[in-house]
Amino acid sequence: MFEVDLQGVPQRAFTGALPAPTDIDDLVRQAHARYASHREGSVADYIPILAEAPPDLFGISVVDVAGGAHEHGDADHAFSIQSISKAFVFALVCEAIGHQAVHDRVGVNNTGLPFNSVMALELNGGCPMNPMVNAGAIATTALMPAASHDERWARVRDGLSRFAGRELEIDAEVYRSEMRTNTRNRAIARLLEGYGRLETDPDAVVDTYTRQCALTVTAHDLAVMGATLADGGVNPITGARVVSAEVARDTLAVLASCGMYERSGEWLYEIGVPAKSGVAGGIVAVSPGKGAIGVFSPPLDSAGNSVRGQRVCAFLSRALGLNLFASQPAPVPSPAPHPSDNTEAP
Ligand code: GLU
Repeated sequence: MFEVDLQGVPQRAFTGALPAPTDIDDLVRQAHARYASHREGSVADYIPILAEAPPDLFGISVVDVAGGAHEHGDADHAFSIQSISKAFVFALVCEAIGHQAVHDRVGVNNTGLPFNSVMALELNGGCPMNPMVNAGAIATTALMPAASHDERWARVRDGLSRFAGRELEIDAEVYRSEMRTNTRNRAIARLLEGYGRLETDPDAVVDTYTRQCALTVTAHDLAVMGATLADGGVNPITGARVVSAEVARDTLAVLASCGMYERSGEWLYEIGVPAKSGVAGGIVAVSPGKGAIGVFSPPLDSAGNSVRGQRVCAFLSRALGLNLFASQPAPVPSPAPHPSDNTEAP
C-alpha cells in the first residue's frame, strides 16, 4: 500500500457529528490541493478503452446524510463505475432474496486473491466466497430475480440509478471494449456453472455484469450512492428508500472486509471505513450515519485501487472524523449532588 503521508493532519474521532459545512468544503479543497501533483500509479489497460483515460483527471465529492454536497476538481466528470457496481448490486440482491440466501449462495469472506482469480474458486469448491471480486459478483448478479435477461438488466440498472438518484447510462464504448476482451470473466462464469453455482446462462450473466460495470457515474454520484448506504438505505438527495437499513448494514460489513481487493485489511487499518474501488479510478468510502466520499483519479496501484483516491480518503477520514475505530474517551460525568449537600435554609 502507499505510505500514508498525513503529517500535520489532526485526527478527529468518529464520536460526534461532521464538522460544519464550510469546514468540510475547505477540507475537500485542501485534500485536492495536497494530492493533485502526485504522479504514482498507472491507468488500467486490460480493458483497452480505459488506457485512454487522462491521468490528471481528479475529482472529490463528499455528500452528507443531510444531502449536503462538498466538491472540488473533476467531480462531475463521467467514468465507468466498474467494480464499484458490485457493492450496490450486492445490496439490491440482498434486498431481493434476503440476508441468509446471499450468505449461503455467494459468501461474505475475503479470498485474499486478486479480483479476477480463478484459483479462488478452485480452492473453495466453486464457492465464490467474496461478492466483491469478479466470480462472486457474477454469481450475485445472476441471483437478481427476473423472468428474462432483459428484465434482470432492467432491475440492476434501475436499482443502481435509484442509489444515484438519477438515470444511469451505459458507456457503449466501454461495454464493447470489455465484451471484446473479457474471456477471463466468461471462463469464471463457465466454472461457476460447472460447479452448479449458476442457475442461468453464463454468457448472458457476463453480459449483464459487463453492462453494470460500464454504467457511467461521477465522483458526485458515487458520494450520493455511498451516502445512501450511510443513511440506512435512504437516498439523502431524493429522500427515496432504496434498500432496508439492515441491507445497508450488511453491505457495509462486506465492503469493510472485501471492498478494496486484497488490500482490504491495510485499507481498514489506515483509513477505517467500508469502501469499494473500481479499475476506472473511482472509490466510494462510506461512514455510517455521517456520509460518503466519492473520488475519481484514474492511476491505480498494483491491486487496482486509485492511488490519489486512497490518499484523499486517508486525509478526509482523519480530518472529518470518519474512521469507525477512532474513538475518544467519554467525558467523566460529574457526580450527582447528594440531597444532604443542599445547604440552603428550608
Ligand atoms: N469490469 C471489470 C472486470 O470485470 C471490473 C473490475 C474492477 O473494477 O475491479 O474486470
